[in-house]
Amino acid sequence: MAKRWYPVVDYSICIECGTCVEKCPHGVYDRTKSPSPVVKNPVACVDHCHGCGNRCPVGAITYVGDDTGWTPPKGKKDSKAGQGGCSCGGCC
Ligand code: SF4
Ligand code: SF4
Repeated sequence: MAKRWYPVVDYSICIECGTCVEKCPHGVYDRTKSPSPVVKNPVACVDHCHGCGNRCPVGAITYVGDDTGWTPPKGKKDSKAGQGGCSCGGCC
């Protein structure tokens, strides 16, 4: 659980692919709104997890509270996805 760590979607570049909604195993996103990414349960986000951001194909996801220097690995830079899952055993 994270009080000051959760994803923020830049809807101006999001293509509504649904990847973030599908891949987060922690119920942060509202699956009833998929493929639109709607953060409904931010406190369920795992502190310092970049799982959805690493998978977003356009780099639309950043994180409130991120002090790691992480930047979206895809999108503008279009480099390889980085690591940084939450080690939950899920697909982050
Ligand atoms: S994949 Fe990780 S960073 Fe993304 S919402 Fe789920 S727990 Fe948070
Ligand atoms: S993975 Fe990125 S582009 Fe796809 S729905 Fe989520 S925020 Fe939008």
